[in-house]
Amino acid sequence: MSAYTKSMQELIECFKKMPGIGAKTAERMAFHVLKASSEDMIKFSSVIRKVKEDVRFCKICGNLSEAETCSICNDSRRDKTIICVVEEPTDLILIEKSGRYKGVYHVLFGVISPLDGIGPEELRIKELLSRIKQDKVKEIILAMDSNAEGETTALYLSENIQPLKVKISRIAYGIPVGGNLDYIDQATLIRALEGRLPVSNRHCS
Ligand code: ZN
Repeated sequence: MSAYTKSMQELIECFKKMPGIGAKTAERMAFHVLKASSEDMIKFSSVIRKVKEDVRFCKICGNLSEAETCSICNDSRRDKTIICVVEEPTDLILIEKSGRYKGVYHVLFGVISPLDGIGPEELRIKELLSRIKQDKVKEIILAMDSNAEGETTALYLSENIQPLKVKISRIAYGIPVGGNLDYIDQATLIRALEGRLPVSNRHCS
C-alpha cells in the first residue's frame, strides 16, 4: 500500500498515463501540484477542461480547431492547390512552426500498419482523394516518417493518387531512416520541405 493519500495516488496515476512520464516524474509532478498556488492549479484544471470541451479536429484537414474548419483552411492566403499529407496533427504543427510552408494540410490520423490491424480504411484516405478531385489540387507532399509503416503508407497513397494526375513529392530527404518527424529539428525540416523529391514511377509500376 502506498503512503500517499487517495487523491495524491490518483493524481500520480493520471500523470503516469501521459506519454513519456515514468513513476518518478509522475510523483514529482504530483508534488508540484500540491505545492503550487491554488490559483495556478485551478487555472490548469480549467484549461484541461476547456481543451476537452472546445478543441476538435477541422472537418477538412484534421488540424486542431475550435470551429468546424481551422484557421489554415480558412486563410485565403494559403495555397489550396498544394496539400501536405501528415500522420498526426503534431506533425502539422511542427511543419507550421518552420514558417516556410504556404500550402494546406491533410492529417491521416495514423499510418498503415497491418500488424496493428490498421488498414487504409482506418485512415482519412478517402477524404484526401475526394479533396484532390474537388479542389483542383496540383501537388501532394507526402510527409510520413521514413520508417516501414511511413513508407508503406506513402507507397499506397502514391499508387492511389497517381491516376488523378497531380504532382506527388515525398519529403524524406534529410530525415534519418527510422526518424520520426517529432524529433527532427527545424533546419532539417526546412531542408526536407525545400528539397522534396518527386515520387518516381518506380513506386507505381
Ligand atoms: Zn483545416
